[in-house]
Amino acid sequence: MNGDAWSFDTRAIHSGYTPDSDTGATNVPIYQSAGFAHDPDTLEAIFNGRQPGFYYSRTGNPTVAALEQRLTALELGRGAVCVSSGMAAIMTVFCTLAQSGDNVVVAKSLFGSTYYLFHGVIASMGIDVRFVDSTDVSGYAAALDARTRFVFLEAIGNPKLDVPDIRAIADVAHAHGIPLVVDTTFVTPYLAQSQSLGIDIVTVATTKYLCGGGLAIGGAIVDTGLFHWPNCISNSPDILKTAVGKLGELGGMAAFKKVRGTTGNSLAAQNAFLTLKGVETLSLRMDRHCSNAMAVATYLDQHPAVTVTQYPGLSTHADHAVATRQFGGRYGGMVTLRLGSKARAYAFLNALTVIQCLVNLGDAKTLAVCPRRTIYRDLTDEQATEAGVYDDLIRLSVGLESEADLIADLTQALEVL
Ligand SMILES: *Cc1c(COP(=O)(O)O)cnc(C)c1O
Repeated sequence: MNGDAWSFDTRAIHSGYTPDSDTGATNVPIYQSAGFAHDPDTLEAIFNGRQPGFYYSRTGNPTVAALEQRLTALELGRGAVCVSSGMAAIMTVFCTLAQSGDNVVVAKSLFGSTYYLFHGVIASMGIDVRFVDSTDVSGYAAALDARTRFVFLEAIGNPKLDVPDIRAIADVAHAHGIPLVVDTTFVTPYLAQSQSLGIDIVTVATTKYLCGGGLAIGGAIVDTGLFHWPNCISNSPDILKTAVGKLGELGGMAAFKKVRGTTGNSLAAQNAFLTLKGVETLSLRMDRHCSNAMAVATYLDQHPAVTVTQYPGLSTHADHAVATRQFGGRYGGMVTLRLGSKARAYAFLNALTVIQCLVNLGDAKTLAVCPRRTIYRDLTDEQATEAGVYDDLIRLSVGLESEADLIADLTQALEVL
């Protein structure tokens, strides 16, 4: 049976690896080797792309390649490049597609490190980052010009939990002949079918739901196969021009790989292995994250001590209809609440017993954090308000524990206030 005909769950378990022909091992081996030995002709052929193979793990590793094939299969895409973290995925996309003098159009609702990457790092590289309101489709169109290289947004904005109309924004980008890049960390390919939403390039922190369990930092870039790479060749950085000139539609992937290899953003084989194991159970875990988060949000929403609860699954959420259409009636595991003051928020965090105070997300454990003075400490008050980050805001990454135990923990912590 052809792998592309398999359902999502089967691809999550079988794509990218067949049992080892020497030993029959059913798990992808951890190829813990910096280099790979070959005769000189073979080595030259691998270096020049005439023969598949590996020579040095910074540029490619068999365990990492198996994960890349599996992620490609999950998206039914053209290819994937795994990198050392979710941030490395975003940075690699920037270095490949844009250079000094260019601009990019970016949704305002962003993960804290991404926000700082754009404000503090990318801007100083001479790339103009134009921030637009995440859900305002006409705002994207107004910000674009001839030097715009791509549009970037998060499938569910962090920490506002607003949900942009991805298809409509993809149409805007495509009308200008540029790709739409979407960080799908909060939804994963299980909730968001990237191609049908019009996403050209996916960036994802595999650290979160794909690996699960809070085990390993990692990231990936997926080329969904929608973008016509020869279109973007003029004005592109040389690394992309050269790759697309040589390889056509496969040039995008080759350029991402080249940037990964030369900047050293490589994923460790051990982390690729842990992520492969996590991906096997992605759909089961996501279903539970989603149902637990819906229960938690519904509970918090009616609690008198909570001033605001945000969850795209609540029918009162401003983008509920868009989220329902895009993500098949599931809304992810992230919920935010506001408690009126920083003192009340910290008292609540201190009173939790099952839920841990921790900045990660997508773990089996439910995690809570007050993001304003931690993840978003670099923002001015004005920027924070714009990003939807407040002193009394708590972000919950709802895990896989029993729903009843989570509600009981929240109940007793809210009683302390
Ligand atoms: C965590 C996260 C990242 C960064 O991933 P790392 O693996 O921590 O570098 C990027 N985007 C989103 C939405 C995230 O949640």
